[in-house]
Amino acid sequence: MALSVDQEQLHFVLIPQKGQGHLIPMIDMAKLIAQRGVIVTIVTIPLEAAKFKSFVDRAIGCRGLQIRLLQLEVATAKPNGHEKEAATVLSQLKDFFKTASSLQEPFEQSFRKLQPAPSCIIADIVFDWTSETAIKFGIPRIVFDGFGCCSRLCYHNILQSKLHGSIMSDSEPFVIPGLPDKIEVTKGKVPMHFLSHNSDEQLKDAIHRINKADETAYGVMINSFQELEPKYAQMYKKAKNNKVWCIGPVSLCNQETIDKAERGNKASIDKNQCLQWLDSKEPGSVVYACFGSCWNLTSSDMMEIGLGLESSGYPFVWVIGGGDISEIDKLLTENRFEERNKGRGLVIKGWAPQVLILSHKAIGGFLTHCGWNSTLEGVCAGVPLLTWPMGAEQFLNENLIVQVLKIGVKVGEAEVHADGTKLTEEEAMTEGVGKKKQEVEKAVKKVMDGGEEGEERRKRARELGETAKKAMEEGGSSHFNMTLFIQDMMHYKAGRE
Ligand code: UDP
Repeated sequence: MALSVDQEQLHFVLIPQKGQGHLIPMIDMAKLIAQRGVIVTIVTIPLEAAKFKSFVDRAIGCRGLQIRLLQLEVATAKPNGHEKEAATVLSQLKDFFKTASSLQEPFEQSFRKLQPAPSCIIADIVFDWTSETAIKFGIPRIVFDGFGCCSRLCYHNILQSKLHGSIMSDSEPFVIPGLPDKIEVTKGKVPMHFLSHNSDEQLKDAIHRINKADETAYGVMINSFQELEPKYAQMYKKAKNNKVWCIGPVSLCNQETIDKAERGNKASIDKNQCLQWLDSKEPGSVVYACFGSCWNLTSSDMMEIGLGLESSGYPFVWVIGGGDISEIDKLLTENRFEERNKGRGLVIKGWAPQVLILSHKAIGGFLTHCGWNSTLEGVCAGVPLLTWPMGAEQFLNENLIVQVLKIGVKVGEAEVHADGTKLTEEEAMTEGVGKKKQEVEKAVKKVMDGGEEGEERRKRARELGETAKKAMEEGGSSHFNMTLFIQDMMHYKAGRE
């Protein structure tokens, strides 16, 4: 669909936050917007800019896109040596919000000088102060939080129903109201910053401001595609006055090998070495295991995952990253793990070129923590998922993957009594089974082995992968939604002039 109004002067300002799960999709989004002829300014700090500068330089240099960087000088909380970006620890979280707030003043000063005058702000959800900025400068503010429609609708409905206030225990199951499917969770499985049952006043205040700014935003940008979660997309749109744009999966904007390989942190494996290893494997035979940018599994749990992959008998790529790897490295050496699995298992210690790996035909399954980006990247690869959620909205994503889309298997799901009946979660815990080696092995076999059920699952995953690609092509739903979004911004601008 052609844009009818002259869009030459459109200028969108993007403000991503530092967590890789938010930063990476927003940088992709910048590229997708700039590909439509819109000028894009990415607001960042020098420490963060280093992480995506080469990507932006390539977008500008090779493709002539108009992407600019606005680097603000602010005092940042000292990063810990382990790059734990999830900020799950209270003090980290508070530091994080403090740094996020400190950007307002320098940003507003620079904002006045931006040329042409910005037409909208697309800000990560943590930058609640952008609501004031947008009002000051008379432009719309769009929020982005890296969630899909299903998890967004879940939180929206939980907050609207005020249900969370009446549920005291973290382990009491409850059904999320107003959803197209019966999704049962516990309070412990939905992120604390949305339920604000945390007792820390400073944190509560930050969460309250974020929720308010989220509610009052002009619209929401979603990294998803309508065909993936149609009912959730439709219901969420309705709840947000239609101002919801599903424009993903944004990772698909990376078509060149170099763009797939250089996403986020610097990969700790050479891309050619990685491709060579994958090339040596049969199509669909390799399990890829990675737990996102900020996993917090213990070293012994991590080791169990490796042992489970090993005993499954399938070739695997196992990423050990996101935290301090020295302890697990020691366990690997003691176990002679790499020596034993030479040729069959590729262990990546540090950052993996995930999209490059997942888009290789050798990959047949993805063991994931169900972060939304990883979920979508797995969907794009057209492979079934093995789910091991740990926090944030990951349990909700797991529900979507396993229960709604039926393209995944829960790790631990395969655990049964001697008579074949399934263990309850509680039994699994008391019997000390936990999600360990045998469970990983069983889940891998369930996903990778033949059989009607596995075949059906693989077929559904493959078809969704195709649909994802179509959504991003010209004429596809996400491509069209991007057009609608740009038109909306254009009309808003025209209405002001
Ligand atoms: N990622 C990567 N290499 C790694 C770990 C993560 O490229 O070794 C990327 C992954 O492709 C995804 C993002 O980091 O785009 C992680 O986002 P996700 O939402 O899956 O999880 P989070 O890290 O936010 O929990």
